[in-house]
Amino acid sequence: MRDLFFLTCGAFAGFAGATGPRGKGGLAPGRLSNTVAVAVRDDGSVVLVDAGWSAATCADAARALGRTYAWLLGVRVRPEDAIATQLRALGIAPSRVSAVVATHLHLDHVGGVEDFPDAEVVVAQAELKAYWGAPRDRGYRARDLARAGRIRAVALSATPTYGFPASADPFEDGQIVLLDASGHTPGSIAVALRGPRGTYVHVGDAAYQRWEYGMSPPGPSLVARLTASSREGLSRTYASLRSCEADPRRPVVVPSHDAEAFAALPHAPVENPSTAVRPSSAR
Ligand SMILES: [Zn+2]
Repeated sequence: MRDLFFLTCGAFAGFAGATGPRGKGGLAPGRLSNTVAVAVRDDGSVVLVDAGWSAATCADAARALGRTYAWLLGVRVRPEDAIATQLRALGIAPSRVSAVVATHLHLDHVGGVEDFPDAEVVVAQAELKAYWGAPRDRGYRARDLARAGRIRAVALSATPTYGFPASADPFEDGQIVLLDASGHTPGSIAVALRGPRGTYVHVGDAAYQRWEYGMSPPGPSLVARLTASSREGLSRTYASLRSCEADPRRPVVVPSHDAEAFAALPHAPVENPSTAVRPSSAR
């Protein structure tokens, strides 16, 4: 892998007032990120882990999502927050994105797929099955993507790695490894990325924020409990996340909505640091 950095597709003011003091069931107060990993492979192609909201949603969230839904989620986006727009500003044409690995099929993670028409969408088989007939406001229309020939469903085999019980290596180079992190949704995955500046595990919504899977104060947050498809799965995955942090490769665990964790990540390509932009969550 030639390069690896992270962008955020806008922010969340908090899911329907679900922020609050840590340890009292709330997510940590402050703005929540919507973190996307950008991996530049050795051949110059780009693989994203998640794609954020679509450009259409970033242009007008109330219109694209419905006023109530956008308000409930606390969506804070501007047109320039679309991942495709941010990549263009960094000198990366959206046509270079050959794959989007979806941690799960919620719209804040895969809505942006529509801005990358040349990318295949890599998703866990269990997740695709769960969302096959789901209405669009609950997740992406998996059926539409499949019809367009863009979905690659990957079965995770029982090969434990990075502290997770099952994994898959869809690009067969050991650099982008899918990990079983179900619980938030039936087929949620985490994705291990071995970049030139270190190893990161983008965990999607397996945990919204890092403190949730730690021992003290204990998670999950109220919102994680309420939104989980399986609470047993969630606590199993929290144990995996703790083992992941203890892995000898010392991966940095990156939850999708942890603005504090996001702030500490690299935000621009190393190959062209002059194009570095301030992360939009910092506003
Ligand atoms: Zn999310």
